[in-house]
Amino acid sequence: MSIEIRNLNYIYMKDTPFEKKALDDVSFSINDGEFIGLIGHTGSGKSTLIQHLNGLLKPSSGEVIIDGYNIFSKNIKLSDIRKKVGLIFQYPEYQLFEETVEKDIAFGPKNLGLSNDEIDGRVKRAMELVELSYEKFKDLSPFELSGGEKRRVSIAGIVAMEPKVLILDEPTAGLDPKARNNILDNIKKLHLEYKNTIILVSHNIDDIADFSDRVLVMENGKNILFDTPVNVFKNMELLKNIGLDVPQILILARELKKNNFDIDENIFKLKDIVDAIRLNICKGRC
Ligand code: ADP
Repeated sequence: MSIEIRNLNYIYMKDTPFEKKALDDVSFSINDGEFIGLIGHTGSGKSTLIQHLNGLLKPSSGEVIIDGYNIFSKNIKLSDIRKKVGLIFQYPEYQLFEETVEKDIAFGPKNLGLSNDEIDGRVKRAMELVELSYEKFKDLSPFELSGGEKRRVSIAGIVAMEPKVLILDEPTAGLDPKARNNILDNIKKLHLEYKNTIILVSHNIDDIADFSDRVLVMENGKNILFDTPVNVFKNMELLKNIGLDVPQILILARELKKNNFDIDENIFKLKDIVDAIRLNICKGRC
């Protein structure tokens, strides 16, 4: 499902002494099925922006067009938009509330008015996708699970609604490395299987570089860059100046290049850099 943002402005507490312009003339479009990484320093406007995409915030001015429709026009019901655009907030496990894992995941699909068979099927598919065994977890209380498992239950709850657009705000925040990698693998798998549009907000630049088709960079309410990871991370100085990192592997690739390694200086993946180093060391001998 495509997304188009046209001249979006948003002002918190307008006409008060605390007025704050959080989005400043933001325009961009996202194609159906793209995986977008959204980065920016704290306070740059990321969360204000994503809340516009399912109508939680209404623009001060400008347009949000989802699948060709302006979502704030009179004939569009925001409840319909929210079925198509799933938003997973930071620490979504705080919103778990049902007595069992199965009921929690089924809550969203039930509200869509689906048949019991369809709900069962969706719950099972979503649990499989986040790698929670249905038999083992379905009757457990969400509150007796580990942090990583709780997070996966809450992600499954949104996934089971099968949104065409899925927005994840720092989905790995506060998790240990193993749980973090699990969640990221699940998101990758989800994208491959459902071919939905994904927007991933993350402070982890390496993950963003690795997964994204394009990266949107926010600074002070404006989208200052929106391009492929290679083209965005070329701007090392600019990114550093606005308090963002560049992928560690990219830094290593550039250092190696300076030291006469025959290497593509726009490498992001660990596997690619290991292969390139091996080729340089072996130089055809191994
Ligand atoms: P990010 O998600 O990138 O950290 P936000 O969208 O949360 O940025 O915030 C953008 C700006 O809007 C910041 O200056 C922030 O302080 C301000 N802001 C966010 N939420 C509110 C709010 N509810 N009331 C007033 N100002 C807010």
